[in-house]
Amino acid sequence: TNKPSGGAPLSNDALEAHWMPFSSNREFKASPRMVRKSEGMYLWNQNGDKLIDGSSGLFNVAAGHGRREIADAVHAQMLENDYTSPFQLGQSKSFEFADRLAQLLPDPFNHVFFVNSGSESIDTALKMVMAYHRARGQGQRLRFVSRERAYHGVNIGGVSLAGMVRNRETFPVVMPNIVMMRHTWDEAHLFERGQPEHGAELADDLLRMVQTYGGSTIGAVFVEPVAGSTGTLVPPKGYLERLRKICDDNGILLVFDEVITGFGRLGAPFASQKFGVQPDIMTMAKALTNGAIPMGAVAATDHVYETITGAAPENAIEFFHGYTYSGHPAACAAGIATLDIYEREGLFEKAAELSDYFLDAIWSLKDLPIVRDIRGIGLMAGVEVFPLEGKPGARGNELQKSLFWNGCHVKWTGDSAIVAPSFVAERGHVDEIVDALRRTLKDQ
Ligand code: PLP
Repeated sequence: TNKPSGGAPLSNDALEAHWMPFSSNREFKASPRMVRKSEGMYLWNQNGDKLIDGSSGLFNVAAGHGRREIADAVHAQMLENDYTSPFQLGQSKSFEFADRLAQLLPDPFNHVFFVNSGSESIDTALKMVMAYHRARGQGQRLRFVSRERAYHGVNIGGVSLAGMVRNRETFPVVMPNIVMMRHTWDEAHLFERGQPEHGAELADDLLRMVQTYGGSTIGAVFVEPVAGSTGTLVPPKGYLERLRKICDDNGILLVFDEVITGFGRLGAPFASQKFGVQPDIMTMAKALTNGAIPMGAVAATDHVYETITGAAPENAIEFFHGYTYSGHPAACAAGIATLDIYEREGLFEKAAELSDYFLDAIWSLKDLPIVRDIRGIGLMAGVEVFPLEGKPGARGNELQKSLFWNGCHVKWTGDSAIVAPSFVAERGHVDEIVDALRRTLKDQ
């Protein structure tokens, strides 16, 4: 009864016309996997078959698909004021949304800069770091520290910081002076749930950078509190605390990329609250608007904001940066409606409550011979399978497709499935996702 209406199949010309992002275009177009409709925890494919969404889209649809409140808010906003230049001009929605975010963010984060994606939030954060040090007369701090297996989006700043080889090898012209800490995945500690007991000392890689290059040359350290796109690498206990301490000792800013971890995914509003470590700058996107309208944001502490703005002459533009669509009214309306839903339905608390059940269910896949490791925290887990010999990622690609035809969408990166349901999920939905994974993985 709930099947989407048919609709004509796409012509070959139409299929060819769209050069798809991060996709094997030729393979896909030979055998497309299309979604016609989405609602709540479910998607419907081109045949009208129902699939459960095990990754809440791309970890962004945290309140479930098809939220009418968001659609209505966007519609009303578009009719009232569809666009206002954000440069030297204002419209109330961006101020209102920034204020709502500031209330949700950890205490000293009272300033929000709007962008249109996670990738833009990273470039913006890089510029904030440069502007901050320059304002303090330390413009020489042009070295940035990132980490192996990091993913910070696809703009040049993000690719420069990326630790995933395929994001870099095609695009070797990146920012200079980026140095990498080791990642925190440890083959000796497979199937460890939550924060690994061992590995805090890996943060001392930062100390080695300080000792090698001089702390006064380093502007910032960028980390995803939980590395998402490389299959959920949860930080070892004490690791983030140690990074914070080394940053403090050396005047280095700590940037948390909370594009995935922000807005309840870990069972707290942000990872910084979950782990009790406060960065200086936070990037976010994904669940900011429940995926309904593209948007990202960068939050700065009072200190960072006041340092940058305070250094400029009275009438000057203090931060020479911004996008035509920074704080777009429709995106802000979507964001405010999204925060209303999170609050009204207690979705962050709901995610926290479901976490144990979810992680138990995911860990039940441990007995499958194909499964190499499982990691997870909150409502997010990585299920890694053994790669096909000499072909890393090929098995993950095949499994993503089989899973789709077995009634479940899960995002795979390389050979890791990243399972991250919406917070409206009930236990039965978790069972459905895990059953589909079991059926698909056991055939291998
Ligand atoms: N940073 C992190 C941690 C991400 O996971 C992503 C996307 O997955 C990005 C940045 C880039 O976001 P976007 O794809 O919106 O540009």
